[in-house]
Amino acid sequence: MHCPFVPAELEDFRDTLRDYAARRLLADYPRWKTEPYPRERVVELGDLGVLGLCTPGEYGGSAGAGGGYLALGVAAEEIARGDFNVTYFLQLGTIACRLLELSDTEALKQRWIPSIASGESIAAFALTEPSVGSDAVRLSCSARREGDEWVVRGEKASITFAGSADLCIVFCRTGGAGASGVSMVAVPLDLAGVTRQVYKSSTSHLTQRGSLFFDDVRVPLDHQLGAEGAGFVAAMQAFDFNRAVIALACVGAAAQSLDETMAYVKGREAFGRALARHEGVAFQVAEHLAAVHAARLVAYEALALADEGRPHIAQAAMAKWLGPKSAAEATHAAVLLHGWSGFGDDLPLVQRLNDVMGLEVGDGTPEIMKGVIAREAMGRAYTAYR
Ligand SMILES: Cc1cc2nc3c(=O)[nH]c(=O)nc-3n(C[C@H](O)[C@H](O)[C@H](O)COP(=O)(O)OP(=O)(O)OC[C@H]3O[C@@H](n4cnc5c(N)ncnc54)[C@H](O)[C@@H]3O)c2cc1C
Repeated sequence: MHCPFVPAELEDFRDTLRDYAARRLLADYPRWKTEPYPRERVVELGDLGVLGLCTPGEYGGSAGAGGGYLALGVAAEEIARGDFNVTYFLQLGTIACRLLELSDTEALKQRWIPSIASGESIAAFALTEPSVGSDAVRLSCSARREGDEWVVRGEKASITFAGSADLCIVFCRTGGAGASGVSMVAVPLDLAGVTRQVYKSSTSHLTQRGSLFFDDVRVPLDHQLGAEGAGFVAAMQAFDFNRAVIALACVGAAAQSLDETMAYVKGREAFGRALARHEGVAFQVAEHLAAVHAARLVAYEALALADEGRPHIAQAAMAKWLGPKSAAEATHAAVLLHGWSGFGDDLPLVQRLNDVMGLEVGDGTPEIMKGVIAREAMGRAYTAYR
């Protein structure tokens, strides 16, 4: 459905990706519940240009030359129609490249950014720990200075691509308590002292979500990104655009589920007429189309603001609340409207519902999003969580 925030120039890009999702991703979506996602398919995403949309041309991306946050949103929406989990490569690749750009060391940037934007390397982002998530500001994974190295020690939990990433942006405590004691260190995951544990879950083979353990991992000092103590703020800034991207991934998955449902209810009859001619069915579809489209609009509004360099915290939080919620509700309805067949493994609906629910939690839960929206509307004095 048309969105006024998305310029007409992105429509050809949208068509290319919708075709790729239908042709290359959709049929294989269930496959990655049990098989690893082939690295050459990640490179394929790089060739499509969806991993470097916010990366400057000098590092192999297309920011400012057809790319940008709106283009990233379009890509997430369309790719998710085929395989919701493939959008994690777009999300984490973009976050990592934006954070690596904060480095003062050109060699580090040249080593990693082009390789992530081309899909040759996979990046992870490690903020969450076993005992801190929503209140990540209390994180305890530490980096201590020894000579010309950071020595990283601690455990990160629920990290997407823990099992497959080549590089991880690790949020470490380098100073005292609170946000100003947190710094970012880019840790190549082949260094001595890194171990990984992938969780058992229905999406585990593609997202490789799991724990990362850092046992006195020695990283050159120049792998610190941004100023010392500025890591937490940088993480929050990355969340702002990525929350809208997540919303659009959810919107794409829901739109696909609703398209499949409309085709089904038009074709199947009950009580002497097509299911779609029963008001109880048609109105359900209508309500979910409306809710999903509202989420789409606020998500693209956030990304349009991001492209203009304007504040978009509230819109991104609204999108991150509404997108996964409306998508989970629409996909749940899609399962039910397909009757017994919706619940089976032959259709992707239950898998999609499960995957969308993961990002109701990931990158900030509904309660945290509402806290952000209320804070932005009423002022910092009314911050719910701090
Ligand atoms: C699919 C997926 C992918 C993820 N990928 C990554 C990743 O790549 N990197 C990374 O660092 N992390 C990742 N995470 C972790 C994610 O960011 C955290 O799970 C999330 O921030 C919530 O933290 P928590 O799980 O510790 O929940 P908690 O903070 O323990 O919260 C549990 C529940 O309590 C609620 N709650 C907490 N505090 C309050 C309050 N004050 N008032 C009301 N309710 C409250 C929460 O909303 C939630 O419902 C991922 C998680 C998932 C599910």
